[in-house]
Amino acid sequence: MIYQFEREAVAFYGRKMFELGLIKGTGGNLSLLTGDGQNIAITPSAVPYNEIEAGDVVIISKKGALIDGARKASTELSLHLALYESRPDIKAVVHTHSLYCSILACLGWEIPPIHYYIAFCGDKVPVAPYATFGTKELARKTVSTIGTNKAVLLANHGMVAVGSSIKNALMVAEVVEFLAEIYYKARCAGNPMQLELEEIERLRKAFGDYCGGQRSEK
Ligand code: 13P
Ligand code: ZN
Repeated sequence: MIYQFEREAVAFYGRKMFELGLIKGTGGNLSLLTGDGQNIAITPSAVPYNEIEAGDVVIISKKGALIDGARKASTELSLHLALYESRPDIKAVVHTHSLYCSILACLGWEIPPIHYYIAFCGDKVPVAPYATFGTKELARKTVSTIGTNKAVLLANHGMVAVGSSIKNALMVAEVVEFLAEIYYKARCAGNPMQLELEEIERLRKAFGDYCGGQRSEK
């Protein structure tokens, strides 16, 4: 099997995404750039995450051609490809319908810098305008809204997180769900206080050192 390592990673992190409660059923999808930087490995469409095995993962070229795989690639393939094309720092993409992200996405509320964890994701989590799932229009709106941030909410739909590895993208997805819950509940209770941009810059540097303490990963 070609790209076995990448396929196993997609199946493994798909199960993790499910275990973390970030998705239900077959909603959401994830992909990573292959080690040679030529192709992507992406989850198959409409297969439950606890059933996906390495052989179900689909290999697609960066231009969108099928390289290997018996399954149909995720319906959000265009969105994943558009993100890789738009930014060389993106090595993995995670899309979820996690509960609080989806609530904010339905309200059209972006997540402002109210908790210091925002620095893991950028300076805010913006909301991309609505477009039908699986369309090039959704891909375009996602790319133009995410900017240099690591996450974006999709109006009336869910959330997309990107990262320097699949582990990193999943960590961002988990952090964004935490921030979405805090923001929603804080807004219900009152008027949450915002952090200054200079503080977010300081936090970004501090997180760089903090994460530097971890073991290096692929
Ligand atoms: P797939 O099962 O085709 O990946 O679609 C799920 C989804 O979340 C669409 O936005
Ligand atoms: Zn979706």
